Amino acid sequence: MAYKIIVCAKQVPDTNEIKTNPETGTLIRDGVPSILNNDDANALEEALKIKDAHPGTVITVVTMGPPQADVMLKECLAMGADDAILLSDRALGGSDTWATSNAISAGIRKAAEKMGGYDIIFAGRQAIDGDTAQVGPQIAEKLGVPQVSYVKKFELDGNKVTVERALEDGYEVIELQTPCLLTAIKELNTPRYMYIRGIYEAEKAEISVWNADDIGVDKEKEVGLRPSPTNVFKSFTPKPKGAGQKVAGDTEKEIAKNLLISLKDKNII
Ligand SMILES: Cc1cc2nc3c(=O)[nH]c(=O)nc-3n(C[C@H](O)[C@H](O)[C@H](O)COP(=O)(O)OP(=O)(O)OC[C@H]3O[C@@H](n4cnc5c(N)ncnc54)[C@H](O)[C@@H]3O)c2cc1C
Repeated sequence: MAYKIIVCAKQVPDTNEIKTNPETGTLIRDGVPSILNNDDANALEEALKIKDAHPGTVITVVTMGPPQADVMLKECLAMGADDAILLSDRALGGSDTWATSNAISAGIRKAAEKMGGYDIIFAGRQAIDGDTAQVGPQIAEKLGVPQVSYVKKFELDGNKVTVERALEDGYEVIELQTPCLLTAIKELNTPRYMYIRGIYEAEKAEISVWNADDIGVDKEKEVGLRPSPTNVFKSFTPKPKGAGQKVAGDTEKEIAKNLLISLKDKNII
């Protein structure tokens, strides 16, 4: 059986030091190199494994982002995805997770028309910049399909999907039917590298770019900064802590005694 798979992938800054615009609360991405979001590479890898096992399977990668996100989409094609769609429009800029999932679910509906439906949507659990882990589950809600997040193991048998969902102290085994949405974590697999012919073909590939009108979202009410219900009230970088102080002493007992003396001197105890 061949499957139709959609992968949601986000281009993220290759850094842990995200800066925000203090006036708008939006992320500043200028001048920061970008990569495919880590969990999304796991999402794509799982889709590629299905394609390896089920010839005829097609994978479409969907992203919402600025025009330069096409570089990340070409990487996905070079890894083995069949098609890539970039949702890009100034009207989409400044979207919070609610507005982002409005745009992506509308993009998936349109992609599904092109593909003749879909069986599985893979997303990452979390994007390393926004970090909310909300977008995948919101897309599932808006498309009205069942979802499982934090997927660390995946099996497919016809229309039956069996997954292990990671919990803090174990995992649960969940069965569901296609069509469904799953969010991947790094324990799911090891993403493959791009292959040489794939890189060459991806360079020549046409990436469909759809704007807000193409996907039929309301620019005043559904996407962008203004209709987004979440507002960043304040953002700041925590001040670095001062240097620590080492308590002297030759034995553990002496160190403990000196610590007590020091705390008493500072009127802490
Ligand atoms: C008030 C406000 C304003 C914002 N303004 C901006 C802005 O101007 N520019 C900006 O870039 N961000 C902006 N953001 C951040 C933006 O909302 C999030 O980056 C975006 O909604 C995705 O959320 P996340 O990063 O937490 O993704 P998560 O929910 O952590 O992502 C989970 C998964 O969803 C999928 N996914 C998430 N985003 C995308 C995407 N864009 N395309 C495809 N798949 C995706 C991926 O599979 C990802 O692994 C703003 C946020 C707020 C609250």
